[in-house]
Amino acid sequence: MWGLRHQRTLGAPIELTGVGYWTGRQVTVRLRPAPAGYGRVFWLRSAGRPNQRIPVKIEHRVEVPRRTSLATAGARVEMVEHLLAVLSAFRVDNCSIELDTPELPAFDGSSLPIAQALESVGTREQSLWQPALIIDRTVRVEEGDAWIEARAATEPGLYLEYQLDYGPGPIGKQQFGMWLSADTFVRQVAPARSFLLEQEAAELRRRGLGAHVTYQDVLVFGREGPLGNRLRFPDECVRHKLLDLVGDLALCGADIHGRIIAHRSGHRLNARMVERLCRSCATHRKVRAA
Ligand SMILES: [Zn+2]
Repeated sequence: MWGLRHQRTLGAPIELTGVGYWTGRQVTVRLRPAPAGYGRVFWLRSAGRPNQRIPVKIEHRVEVPRRTSLATAGARVEMVEHLLAVLSAFRVDNCSIELDTPELPAFDGSSLPIAQALESVGTREQSLWQPALIIDRTVRVEEGDAWIEARAATEPGLYLEYQLDYGPGPIGKQQFGMWLSADTFVRQVAPARSFLLEQEAAELRRRGLGAHVTYQDVLVFGREGPLGNRLRFPDECVRHKLLDLVGDLALCGADIHGRIIAHRSGHRLNARMVERLCRSCATHRKVRAA
């Protein structure tokens, strides 16, 4: 059946260090290859040992503003979406992700440092098949004027489109679509950075958040455009929203085949789409590769 492929893991371990947006602390994340069938699993270190386990699954998602976080009893990890987007685009299905602080490093607000590190070690094929979720009907979720529509697959692969509308101003309306692959992700989406409006940044600061975050760590838009920074793409904002969507869809735990069109959606609506897809479309599994 089309759509099935062997699972993959990292070619070699990766270690990355950076500052977290929310904790403001220096974070080291270590990604290690894992056996077939292991999945993607966060391990939080305490007392120097990786001993709190958080599997990457939609049922472990917790509702928090502006990011995707996962939790199990007693353990929680913040802002997982930019890393999960890279693992999903590179089809790294089995990976142990060790952290010494319960938050991923923010880097420059994009996925580029993670994608480049992964590109340098490559991936290797494993013995089991990766489950495939084939969209076989239209599935739609809505919240206010935001919506996401999943449309039936007519060929293998996942086509994603995002439509952004910030009304009058420097961001305005933007639309971006692509077939997801490691190559399209690295070139077209991974460099796109997180962004905020100037008034949103001021509001976060008033609440005591992100005091350490500078205009180099996140794009902050004033009336005329980004403050103290330059865009990497004229439509960088919509590309970053598509990056977030890839990261959130990784909570499916399967390769998705079909088309997904998102209009002004955020992490919460993205997660509702994942829940609906998992419920309404069959996941095709084979236990062992031929
Ligand atoms: Zn993001």
